[in-house]
Amino acid sequence: MKCDILVIGAGALGLSAAYHLKRGNPEKSVLVVDRHGGPGQGNSAKSEGAFRNTFTSETNYLLADSTIDWFTHMQEDLGHDIKLGFLGYLWLFSEEQHRRVTPAIRRMMERGVELRELGKEELQDAIPDLVTDLGDDEEVELMGLESVETGLFCPKSGSLDADALVRSYEEEFLKLGGEVSYGTEVQRLVLKGEPELGIPGEPFVWQEARITGAETGKGEIEAETTIVAAGVWSETLLDPIGVDAMMRPKKRQLFVFKDPKLEGLMDVKGLNEEGALPLTVLPKSAVFLKAEVTEGSVWLGCADDIGRPFDLEDDPQAEEDYYTDSLYHVLVKYFPCFADLRPMNSWAGQYAVNSLDGAPVVSGEPGMIYVGAASGSGIMKCDALGRIVAAFHAGEEEAELYGGRRFRVADLGVADRRVERETFII
Ligand SMILES: Cc1cc2nc3c(=O)[nH]c(=O)nc-3n(C[C@H](O)[C@H](O)[C@H](O)COP(=O)(O)OP(=O)(O)OC[C@H]3O[C@@H](n4cnc5c(N)ncnc54)[C@H](O)[C@@H]3O)c2cc1C
Repeated sequence: MKCDILVIGAGALGLSAAYHLKRGNPEKSVLVVDRHGGPGQGNSAKSEGAFRNTFTSETNYLLADSTIDWFTHMQEDLGHDIKLGFLGYLWLFSEEQHRRVTPAIRRMMERGVELRELGKEELQDAIPDLVTDLGDDEEVELMGLESVETGLFCPKSGSLDADALVRSYEEEFLKLGGEVSYGTEVQRLVLKGEPELGIPGEPFVWQEARITGAETGKGEIEAETTIVAAGVWSETLLDPIGVDAMMRPKKRQLFVFKDPKLEGLMDVKGLNEEGALPLTVLPKSAVFLKAEVTEGSVWLGCADDIGRPFDLEDDPQAEEDYYTDSLYHVLVKYFPCFADLRPMNSWAGQYAVNSLDGAPVVSGEPGMIYVGAASGSGIMKCDALGRIVAAFHAGEEEAELYGGRRFRVADLGVADRRVERETFII
């Protein structure tokens, strides 16, 4: 089998890259392969589908802000029902946290990010179920929980249906004449020496080593360019050829609740049109929750870090005692409406964490482009990343993001990387 461009991975990044590559190169054959039976079945469809433009790093801001505009275009102009909902993000800060993040908030506002600060009383009026004053009972002291002093509300944020998003990219890609092959597992990347002599042991150090495609369960696929967009599994393809995927897989879990006691979270005032709880980040341990309006449910997660191992798993599972022993105790202090509730559903996936700066990587080797290390925000940056891959492939210095802003391609590379470390991570 032969194609001009082979994309490994039909997640949000692979399909966005495939779509933008095909759009820019209509004459080239672009083939997407994935070991699963359909698109998005790696981590994309396990995600919360949340998006925000509240990032302290200019890079992350540009990637997410332009992708959010693209989502609106996809839903309103291209007619894809990706269930885009602008419920907003609400960061809850203690007095001390607020003091620390104030310079970052100012910088984001100067950049043009729309943000609204809410005092305690305003928070209380908007979300009557939220407890801002925790008092000083023994548990509060033991857990080091702090009362809420301020809320930072970010309206250009919310969530979408990640599964519908990847399917929409696939549909647009297929309309352009792109091809997909599901149930196709890549076993290894094919590395050849140039000039090729056909002698065992190639590539020798004096040859130029070039990736010429991939060996799959269905045979070898030769390609001029191979795009590695295999998410957390990218390291299984890149490690054997000595290329660093610049990320480590870390488990993330989501818990879903549906109960009459939570109805107040669907009746929030003055924050969004739906009157529902925005994605709300608690002051402690990066525990967050959001209303899922279409289902009438509430989703809960936590961006835990130290203590949670890096470990590549094919099918990670949610741990019930992680909820009962860890998250519950923090959650119920701020939202007592969760008292005695157990999740009706839960699942787990993995973040591809770049611990150095928390930003994605787009880098290349002869014959190959790698896109990954999305660090838990690959959905909300997928369109910008797809465009950057296409610009990299075309040898352009800058990519044009949706809406016309320009982005220096090398900024996400390794050799000439220019990314500020992100501090607003969940
Ligand atoms: C619980 C959870 C919640 C999240 N919430 C959010 C959120 O709210 N917002 C957000 O922006 N991001 C979120 N993320 C992160 C987001 O899901 C990822 O950043 C994004 O899905 C990465 O897309 P991807 O295309 O790189 O990876 P994936 O979607 O994992 O795609 C990689 C694909 O490669 C395929 N593949 C791998 N190896 C091979 C092989 N050898 N051969 C063939 N195919 C292969 C896989 O089957 C898979 O389909 C969340 C992640 C998790 C786990």
